[in-house]
Amino acid sequence: MLVKERICPECKEPIIGRSDKKFCGDVCRTAYHNNIANQRDSSMRAINKVLQKNRLILLETEVNRNGNAQTDIYFLQELGFDFSYYTHCRPDRAGQVIVYCYEVGYIRNGEDQVQIVRKDSR
Ligand SMILES: [Zn+2]
Repeated sequence: MLVKERICPECKEPIIGRSDKKFCGDVCRTAYHNNIANQRDSSMRAINKVLQKNRLILLETEVNRNGNAQTDIYFLQELGFDFSYYTHCRPDRAGQVIVYCYEVGYIRNGEDQVQIVRKDSR
């Protein structure tokens, strides 16, 4: 019977031993799973960083506008706001969709205008 050589996914060396062994040893098994966890954590960190930056931009813009939270998308984009990242969406009482970054969000008013809103303020 032809036995297919199994290769350790971590060190790429042949696996010797039981047929259900997936790694050459404990060191490689642990390293392999740690690498997967680190990659997952680092992509989560990168996304969280964008979301936190978006949140700060909305909060600072609202504060700097002294209650007039109407602005345009280009102003936010120049500050580094990324419209493709948000935490959740919810319609307000008027049925307009609020796009949130945590507790602060915005409503698109027309083509390029946005109204910044705090959670539960509408
Ligand atoms: Zn190995």
